[in-house]
Amino acid sequence: MIPTDAVSRLGTESAFSVLARAAELQREGKDIINLGIGQPDFPTPDHIVEAGIKALRDGHHGYTPAKGILPLREAVCADIAKRRGVEVSPENITIMPGGKPTMFFSILMFGSPGTEIIYPDPGFPIYRSMIEYSGATPIPMTLHEDRDFGFSADEVLNQITAKTRLIIVNSPGNPTGGVTPKSEVEKLIAGLADWPDVAIMSDEIYSRMLYGGREHVSFLAYPEIRDRLIVLDGWSKTYAMTGWRLGYAVWPGKLIDLAERFCVNAHSCVNAATQYAGIAALEGPQDAVDVMMKAFDERRVAIVKMLNDLPGFRCADAAGAFYAFPNIEGTGIDAKTMQTRLLEEAGVATIAGTSFGVNGDGFLRFSYANSLENIEAAIGRIGKLL
Ligand code: PLP
Repeated sequence: MIPTDAVSRLGTESAFSVLARAAELQREGKDIINLGIGQPDFPTPDHIVEAGIKALRDGHHGYTPAKGILPLREAVCADIAKRRGVEVSPENITIMPGGKPTMFFSILMFGSPGTEIIYPDPGFPIYRSMIEYSGATPIPMTLHEDRDFGFSADEVLNQITAKTRLIIVNSPGNPTGGVTPKSEVEKLIAGLADWPDVAIMSDEIYSRMLYGGREHVSFLAYPEIRDRLIVLDGWSKTYAMTGWRLGYAVWPGKLIDLAERFCVNAHSCVNAATQYAGIAALEGPQDAVDVMMKAFDERRVAIVKMLNDLPGFRCADAAGAFYAFPNIEGTGIDAKTMQTRLLEEAGVATIAGTSFGVNGDGFLRFSYANSLENIEAAIGRIGKLL
């Protein structure tokens, strides 16, 4: 067998290997607190589960249109209009098996040898993995700790060259919880007027996960870039539906047929019952989301304080998602060693910042999608180990 060179460049997401190691330790009888994996510790709300079951009972067992069933695409557009104040046509939507395929397809559409793609660093590891796979050159967009992990529009604009095909942005962001301020978003968009051939992929999967009265700044709100903007969003985080595999993308008119073709080639369609559950999520009561967000906010305040009290740790006040990303340089221990020692010796799963890019060196990601009690116990164990 001789697989291509390209596949040897595929990266991975360390959260899954840490999860596997944590499960192994648990099987050996060790008590592990998992602050590694980025998924809500809440069940999917009942009415959503019931809608999925009903869809199966009602006989929705077959293929659906590759772009997704129309009522779901309409529900997505109504939700976008409500939350982002923007009109989008169901024609421009593809329903996806999660958030990841949108980044996968967009990067394959724009990345090839000799081109460049700018992506957030520290950022979701799959961006870089897919850019490398496509053969394009990955150009890291530095997210600065002293800017609450937002990007600097001037820096990004300076990184654009004639080879740039795509810029990826993600706010609120993984792994930092950082939110880029509206002023920087608008400065970037204004500067992009000089680069009309550069596409943008805005990963807005944490758009509902904001704290302290912050409002989401969607790239969709800027008509001047709509003809080259792809938006990634989905149900995984907001509705605690990571295992259902349900997401959506908004495509510009020029890319929608291509996007549909990718869907036909890759997965045919998202499983039908899940799509009906997705309608119930968007159109049904939102109180379960509010309850979850209230719990996340309490944990966020608590974990940021507790992390700042640990010797050698310094933690920014994350404004979004469910991650805290402390700087641990003051401990004198590098991130990877810290990740290993915390898991093996203290029984606490976290992810080294280096898993999210070179700029993650000296940081550790904590997911606070776990109970306050477990978070307190985990930080207590870390304090003892330090
Ligand atoms: N984008 C970001 C920034 C994420 O953090 C994640 C998941 O962790 C995804 C996309 C992928 O989401 P999904 O599980 O729906 O594929």
